[in-house]
Amino acid sequence: MSKQKNLDTSFFGQPRGLSTLFFTEMWERFSYYGMRAILLFYMYYAVTKGGLGMDQATAASIMSIYGSLVYLASVVGGWLSDRVWGSRRTVFIGGVLIMFGHIALSLPFGVSALYVSIALIVIGTGLLKPNVSEMVGGLYSPEDRRRDSGFSMFVFGINLGAAVAPWAVPWAANGFGLNLFHGEMNFHAGFSLAAIGMFFGLVQYVVDGRKYLSKDSLYPDDPIDKESLRPVIIWSIVGVIALVIILGLLAAMGQLNINNIITIITVIAIALPIYYFVMMLNSKKVTKDEKSRVVAYIPLFIAAAIFWAIEESGSVVLALFAEQRTILHIGGWHFAAANFQTLNPLFIMILTPFFVALWDHWKKQPSAPGKFAAGLVIAGLSYVWMALPAMIHGTTAGRVSPFWLVGSWFIVEIAEMLISPIGLSVTTKLAPKAFKSQMMSMWFLADAAGQAVNAQVVKYYSSATEVPYFLIIGAVSIVFGLILCLFVKKIHGLMDGVD
Ligand code: GLU
Ligand code: ASP
Repeated sequence: MSKQKNLDTSFFGQPRGLSTLFFTEMWERFSYYGMRAILLFYMYYAVTKGGLGMDQATAASIMSIYGSLVYLASVVGGWLSDRVWGSRRTVFIGGVLIMFGHIALSLPFGVSALYVSIALIVIGTGLLKPNVSEMVGGLYSPEDRRRDSGFSMFVFGINLGAAVAPWAVPWAANGFGLNLFHGEMNFHAGFSLAAIGMFFGLVQYVVDGRKYLSKDSLYPDDPIDKESLRPVIIWSIVGVIALVIILGLLAAMGQLNINNIITIITVIAIALPIYYFVMMLNSKKVTKDEKSRVVAYIPLFIAAAIFWAIEESGSVVLALFAEQRTILHIGGWHFAAANFQTLNPLFIMILTPFFVALWDHWKKQPSAPGKFAAGLVIAGLSYVWMALPAMIHGTTAGRVSPFWLVGSWFIVEIAEMLISPIGLSVTTKLAPKAFKSQMMSMWFLADAAGQAVNAQVVKYYSSATEVPYFLIIGAVSIVFGLILCLFVKKIHGLMDGVD
């Protein structure tokens, strides 16, 4: 009882540290999604229109592989925090790198600044994102029942930042409504606002963090000793040498180009989770029951990867559809193609309370694999829906109503409700004891794998291929969802008591 009394409830009933982490992540997501809302257009717009003049297929492919790398890097970020720096410092370093990444894009240095920025933001987000989430978990003792609602508030912060940014950043790029850039886009102004957002996040993190975050986060959970460090250094050197050799060979063959580099990253992003699964299933530290749970996680992982491939294509394929095929006004209300990116987080914020209530009240609700199966079918339908405008009006007729995109995002966000929060929680429950943090990385790796596949697939999207593109990918998701349906009982059985 006295324990209950001592609980810190100063932030809407939650510990005050949640407010620090909420705003840090909100600003970081503001900078990330704001930047992504205009980045695609920056890459393929003609130089005369302020862009880099890349071809559309390459720009789309870069968007996807960039998203994949960000989540791949979270594996490194989780490791560095656990074993070397502790989460507090890892997040700070990450935030600083991210801010410099946006600053790089705010300067007029063209393609080289783009690649520098991608490198900084990939490493920075890899350091920041998994560890902010980890610190949220650390605010609660194991018996504290506010943990789930704390995470829901945290996810709300993510989506608040992600929803505001696609208005604010394009607005800056368009001269703050003041016609500063004479009707043209000034992308650098937009990227500057993303940098400023991350700066606010950092100031808040440092000032409030000192007061409200626990001292434990200053130290690594499992500090590395000299002996364990050796193999890590050796393997890192081997990895770097292997990479240099591969790149050198490509260069010697005259094949060192962005497309081949993207293909290499795609292979790594698919191979890494396979390696993790094999390692966990062969590890002596994993019991037989735990192995059965890891086996159950395999189809869920594949389902999550397919889902994220569709969800994450919102900032690539649907963004192209918004720019090229959508009427950009409703009556007298005009908007930019980039503004559509607000729909994903907006629908999450609207739908979350409804789904929280549904799971609280539905007694015979489906198990996690059942929800995943439904989620995949619904995600597939959001794509089939996008084939309809061209099937009804043809693609030559020009632009179609913005409600097609609104509808597609609404449908895919219902799927996200069935997969994202459920997946996060089931991942923690299915994790073998000895691989707790690696299993959490697996969740991000599902997103990385989905976007890595996207990097190969989005190249085929254009207004001319719209109908088969949406129908084929939609059908893959639906078919996989239906197959998963058949195995729900079996997978649930393998989960060995976890629901
Ligand atoms: N869109 C969410 C975010 O940016 C979730 C991504 C994921 O879980 O893969 O935080
Ligand atoms: N759905 C993403 C997430 O949950 C947000 C976005 O794509 O804008 O944060």
